[in-house]
Order: sequence, then structure tokens, then C-alpha cells
Amino acid sequence: MTERTFRPAAPDLPPVATVNDTTALARAADATRVAGIGPQTQPARAEHATAPAPAPAPGPTASESESGPGDGAGSEPEPEPAVVTVTEMPVVLYEVAGAIARVTMNRPEFRNAQNSKMTYALDDAFYRAAGDPAVKVIILAGAGRHFSAGHDIGTPGRDVDRSFDRRAGLWWDHVGELGAESRFAREQEVYLGMCRRWRELPKPTIAQVHGACIAGGLMLAWVCDLIVASDDAFFADPVVRMGIPGVEYFAHPWVMGPRAAKEFLFLGERVDAQRALQLGMVNRVVPRAELAAEVTSIAERIATMPRLGLALTKKAVNQSEDLMGLQTGMDSVFGLHHLAHAHNAEVGSDSLAGQDARSMRDARRASESST
Ligand code: ZN
Repeated sequence: MTERTFRPAAPDLPPVATVNDTTALARAADATRVAGIGPQTQPARAEHATAPAPAPAPGPTASESESGPGDGAGSEPEPEPAVVTVTEMPVVLYEVAGAIARVTMNRPEFRNAQNSKMTYALDDAFYRAAGDPAVKVIILAGAGRHFSAGHDIGTPGRDVDRSFDRRAGLWWDHVGELGAESRFAREQEVYLGMCRRWRELPKPTIAQVHGACIAGGLMLAWVCDLIVASDDAFFADPVVRMGIPGVEYFAHPWVMGPRAAKEFLFLGERVDAQRALQLGMVNRVVPRAELAAEVTSIAERIATMPRLGLALTKKAVNQSEDLMGLQTGMDSVFGLHHLAHAHNAEVGSDSLAGQDARSMRDARRASESST
């Protein structure tokens, strides 16, 4: 860990919280078997992103029960951004215990909003687990109170204008490019490309989902082979409110069926864990206190199977799913997704139809109060 001092770049963002109150797992990052991947980055601004993500930094005293994940609630903007000191934590933690690798998203103060720094750190972790002969099964979890509130569209660590070494495809760097070209190149790499790459990881993966699993968070859970949710988990893809037909990794009709997918998208409302179980979107629902132990138990039992048998079985099911149209369907919908981004940018102020985390929260609350 290192410390640095900075001013929040965006004038409408409150000062970022001092990161000193993360989870026990995060505090264990110095332990010998826990490695951090990718320190948090510093402020960047962006013209576009995708799914709604959590609010600007809620501040250390903000109550999530009041603001809600991905809701955009935050403290009121400060007249002058304050200079604050941030203790950097790795954005992804990597731990191996026996045959199990545990990959933990570690931006709990932002409800694990996924910026590119986290995306590449996740990729590092998955690549590492894939190449480690001792690892048989991989668990993906989130530190703090939520699995993931989606793509980062509003935290001080937002980094959509930053270049990274691309590895999910051959599209050129989006930074400095204009309009749809920039958006398409970026989202091919960090959203669609990365998610496809992770889905093909030749070892079983389990998403351990608690709290919010919203928009871009869905993509992370869906690329895993199994999803085990706690009874407090909830799922939603509200981006239709931005005029966008779902998140980039458009697996909705395959993970819950076409009719349920339409309801899920048309309403954009939260679906609780039991409903997700009924839809076949998750494998199991367990009490919150038992979630980690249940996932670990499942992983340990899977790990008794032969590695190649597991890899071929995973590929068999994935190939079958592809023959049901998953890959080609996703490619065609990706075009619609970018039509929506481009339309928004053409007729409005930005590619997200002028929405941000806060306006999305307000719209959801207004919708709920009207019923
Ligand atoms: Zn997008």
C-alpha cells in the first residue's frame, strides 16, 4: 500500500473517503497468501460509460441503507474540493487456499464499481489462477457490503480516458479517438472482450454474490459457471432508462429466458435472490452468514474432479450455449447497444442520455413510489 494526496478532479464530486475501513479481507492483504493486484487509480473523467454505477464517494459516514447501492446518493458537493489523503488498497485481492483461488473485488467504498483498473486487475487474477497448476476452482467475490454496483460512472477512480495494455482483442486504443469509434473500441475490449475471455477460463468459476449485483455487476456474475447468492442479494439491469437495451454482455435471454429477460429489462427493477433462483439465474441461495462457507464447500468438492474433465465439461456446456445463439446474439445486440450510445450522444448531451448514478436512483425511487 502507498499513500498519496490529490484533489478530486470533478467539481461535482465530494472528496474521496480515506480508505481505512475496508473489510477484514482487505486488511488481510498483507498476509502471505493474499496478494493485491492493481492499486486504485486516481481521478479521471469520462464522456461516456455504460451501466449505472454507484454514487460519487458516499463519504465515511454515509449510510448505505439510506443511499442504496448504485443509487447515486452522496453527500452534497463541496464548494472547493478538499485535499484528502488516500491510503491506496489493491482493487483486486488474490488468495489461494489449497486448490481454491479466491478473487475479490476490493473497492468497497464504491460498492465495487468496476473501473478499467479493476478490469485489468481481475484479468491478471484470472490469468494467474488459470496458469497455476495447484488451482482447480476459482471464486469471484466482492469485499464490503455488495458484490458490485456496476461499471464506474461516477467515482474519483473513474478511468475511461486512460490507456491500458489491451489483451482481450485487437481493437486499437480508444483514447483520443472520437465518438462511436472510441466507445466501440473501448467496450469491445474492457466489457465484451474481457467478459468473453473470462467465460472461457478453462477452470470452474463460482460467483459469490451478496448485496447489489447491478448492471455491469451482472456481467461479472454471469461469466462465472455457478452463481451462489446470499438471501440479501438483488439483481437489476436498469440501463433501458438510458435508452440502452441492456448491458454490453447481453446474456439476459440465456441466463433467465426470453420472457423473463424482457420483464427484467422493461422494468429495470431489483430482482431478489429467491426470484433469481426461480428464474434459473442463480444456482443456490443461502443465508448471508453462510455464503462464503457454502461457496468454499462447493468449490472444494468440485476440486476433487480431474482438471481436464472439468475443463472439457465446461467447454461442452459453453459450446452448447453458443449453439443456442449466445455468441452471435451477443454480437448482434452489441451493435444495438452502440446504436443507443450513438443516438444518445447525437441528440443529447452524452452517450448515457444525460443520466448519472444520482438521476438513475431518483428515477427508480419515483417509479417505486408510483406503484
Ligand atoms: Zn456501453
